[in-house]
Amino acid sequence: MSCIFCQIVAGELPASIAHEDELCIAFMDIHPLGRGHVLVVPREHGVQCTEVSAELMAHIFRVARRILVAQRQLGWGLPGTHILLNDGAAANQTVPHIHVHVIPREKGDTLRSVARLTLHVTRIFGQAAPRVELERQARSLRDCMMAMMADSDSTAVTDRD
Ligand SMILES: [Zn+2]
Repeated sequence: MSCIFCQIVAGELPASIAHEDELCIAFMDIHPLGRGHVLVVPREHGVQCTEVSAELMAHIFRVARRILVAQRQLGWGLPGTHILLNDGAAANQTVPHIHVHVIPREKGDTLRSVARLTLHVTRIFGQAAPRVELERQARSLRDCMMAMMADSDSTAVTDRD
């Protein structure tokens, strides 16, 4: 199995997991383009979003939205976020397994840093974040999402479907 995201899903490669359920996992990007940059990945292998069911993609985006809410509750970045899917190598998809980026914008960051997403530069030159920091962020997100689920009065997240 050569797909690195399938290896992460199988637990064969390390990742700092922010969320997991029967359909997908979400983990911290090792080359973050913003504080708390998360990737949401279906457990099922597919390169492009049309290779899996529309229901699965809907679930992926539902989880991405939940991550976004948690990032904001944690005060990471500005109330502005990129939810981004590069669908296919021609769109500069760097890992050939469907993944949705959830990237909080930071005050003072530049479009240049986010533009790196549409290039391959990040994977080539990007500095890997320290694992201990990624683990800390993943734990914060897990705790925050747990609290959101416990708070049934929360209007921040409507995920009852
Ligand atoms: Zn895969």
